[in-house]
Amino acid sequence: MKTIPFWQEDYPRPENLPVFDELPESVDVAIIGGGYTGLSAARTLSKSGASVAVLECEIIGWGASSRNGGITGCDLKAGAQKIFKRYGEKYGHIFWQASLDAVDLIKELVNDEGIDCNFHQDGDLCVAFKPSHFDDFKVDIEWNKKVLNHELHLIPPSELKKEISSPVYYGGLVDDHGAGLHPAKLVYGLAEVAAKYGAQLYERAAVTGLEKAGDGFIVHTQRGRLKAREVIAATNGYTEKLVPGLKSRVIPVGSYSIVTEPLSPELQKEISPKGRMFWDSKWFLNYFRITPGGRLLWGGRNNLSTTLDLEKSARILGKQMVHAFPQLENVPVANTWTGQLGLTFDLMPHIGCVKGVHYAFGYGGHGLHTALYLGRELAQILTGEMTSSPFADIPHQTYFFYRNEPWFMPLAVQFYRLRDWMT
Ligand SMILES: Cc1cc2nc3c(=O)[nH]c(=O)nc-3n(C[C@H](O)[C@H](O)[C@H](O)COP(=O)(O)OP(=O)(O)OC[C@H]3O[C@@H](n4cnc5c(N)ncnc54)[C@H](O)[C@@H]3O)c2cc1C
Repeated sequence: MKTIPFWQEDYPRPENLPVFDELPESVDVAIIGGGYTGLSAARTLSKSGASVAVLECEIIGWGASSRNGGITGCDLKAGAQKIFKRYGEKYGHIFWQASLDAVDLIKELVNDEGIDCNFHQDGDLCVAFKPSHFDDFKVDIEWNKKVLNHELHLIPPSELKKEISSPVYYGGLVDDHGAGLHPAKLVYGLAEVAAKYGAQLYERAAVTGLEKAGDGFIVHTQRGRLKAREVIAATNGYTEKLVPGLKSRVIPVGSYSIVTEPLSPELQKEISPKGRMFWDSKWFLNYFRITPGGRLLWGGRNNLSTTLDLEKSARILGKQMVHAFPQLENVPVANTWTGQLGLTFDLMPHIGCVKGVHYAFGYGGHGLHTALYLGRELAQILTGEMTSSPFADIPHQTYFFYRNEPWFMPLAVQFYRLRDWMT
């Protein structure tokens, strides 16, 4: 079993990705982090004529952007119903529309920029882990139709076999907006597009310090230094203590995945007759899908820690997978890996500024479309194309008890496990 993320192995970073060695003396915008957020911001800024350096401490796309499940669709991590309750109807609709526009942005990258990332919009299916969750689905359907004019489809247990071949779920909820893609192809494709518009990409260029200088910054990196009028931190789940006050705004959470060896076409069709993306209704949810190439990817945040042993996590995930799909009992697991996503206390993604450094992060497990979207939105604020963003308007909640280490996570794990058990 290999411990390299499957997507990176399946589609390694293209050798001809145009990366630079020598830093320029100065740029308009220095972007820390070469994932979806940073590259999406770089694309928009470069298109507008700004000079941009993307500074990535590993290789481009190394973080969550080439390790995720490749499952996307509308809505934000906090969920539309909570968002409406918390921010009111006007902002509720704005955030909902933003999530739809975010999926459209992926389509724009595929159709207009020509990024070939196996994008297919065949819908997603949330499966009920308990009978009571199926009852909740009925309420969700009503609410979505009435408030958002958004159609979801209830799949009763008797019809579930047409959607998924698993004996353990109690019905499902289909959203036609759900889509799947190859995350590594997307991130490398986006890097190529940003470079085409003039963004300069730097790898092994960890930013080690920021110094205020005039109306900008001197950015210290492992490759030397450069001046930048503006700096964007696009580091999400990998945010460290570089900027005082930044780390306390986002909590790193480990997400773990395994992928099987390729399945026969018959088994693929049996497990997922309609090519849907799947997840279950638990708080500690599992997400799963058939990959391009016909493997089953099974992932989850069984333990929120970022340091779980990869063999151990493969054993836990493998057991869950075989429980859901007994027909996979003898199918070997090929890869096990992890990555860090960024969570905020209010489960909302945020755009903001700390000590003059702009940031966009906190997407939870919904970062595929939202990271691209917030990266673009932040860039549009910097170019003056937009004056603000709803993601910058809402307060970004921090708490005195979290500065550097999320020591409270084991308590949160116990709380949510209990919740999963009780509800
Ligand atoms: C295992 C897993 C599964 C997921 N599944 C899904 C899914 O199915 N659907 C979905 O919507 N979302 C999913 N997500 C979330 C999604 O992948 C992320 O929200 C998204 O990729 C965030 O993109 P980003 O560019 O903000 O961050 P990242 O892609 O994590 O990029 C941040 C980069 O910053 C770099 N960096 C950090 N510090 C420095 C520094 N000092 N100097 C230079 N570079 C630095 C890091 O090396 C990293 O490459 C998943 C995440 C994980 C980990």
